[in-house]
Amino acid sequence: MQAIHDVDCGDFLRGVLYELGEDKTHHPNKTKEKCFIWLEWKFECPGCQRFLAMQVKDYVLKLKVPEEKSLEKLLEDYLHNKKCAACGKQCEVKPGVKKLGPYLFLEIDRSILLNEEAKDETSKEIRLFSLKLQPTYDLLGSQYGCLGTINYKLDSEEGGHYVTNLFPSPNECLKVHELEAKCSWKKPDFDTETVIVVLKRIEQILDSVNYEASTSSGISIEHPLREIGT
Ligand SMILES: [Zn+2]
Repeated sequence: MQAIHDVDCGDFLRGVLYELGEDKTHHPNKTKEKCFIWLEWKFECPGCQRFLAMQVKDYVLKLKVPEEKSLEKLLEDYLHNKKCAACGKQCEVKPGVKKLGPYLFLEIDRSILLNEEAKDETSKEIRLFSLKLQPTYDLLGSQYGCLGTINYKLDSEEGGHYVTNLFPSPNECLKVHELEAKCSWKKPDFDTETVIVVLKRIEQILDSVNYEASTSSGISIEHPLREIGT
């Protein structure tokens, strides 16, 4: 646990991608096509029998971290576990994919909610733990490779600094901070301070209209719209 200055990397990235994704006549680009995420969940709560619908439309998926878990488990929770807004029951669900490009930006929300009185506006507490990042992930019908991460740079005195990690090979880590770039071996705990994970699609295993898969990570995927007949 460590206090850091409240510079929100996820919101900054979100803002940049939204801006880039705006289709301007003088600057046509494919940011939206490549990075925009639109997922939805439609399910009946087994506790109170209410029908619930949720969706997310964003450039960066924000993964809450209620407890220390690997990225694989965080993703599984995010995609397959939703809390009923009416009765609070945790429901097992399946996400529907409306839009998903070849790039997937994930924000790891490591912040810890302190009680309001003690909350200092200029800093927040964050949890430091390894995400046990894997070179590849099977999710939502595609296989994704881990392209890079953005990490908090906590040894920086003035705060608000980040390091970009890229992985030129499975065992190497290229760290970029301002004008400095250093390549070294990828250490097991390189992801302890990671706040952004960037995944890039390696291959689409199943098309989005007709997929149903159980992946090695235990994340099972299918298209719920067909299932519930909407
Ligand atoms: Zn319920």
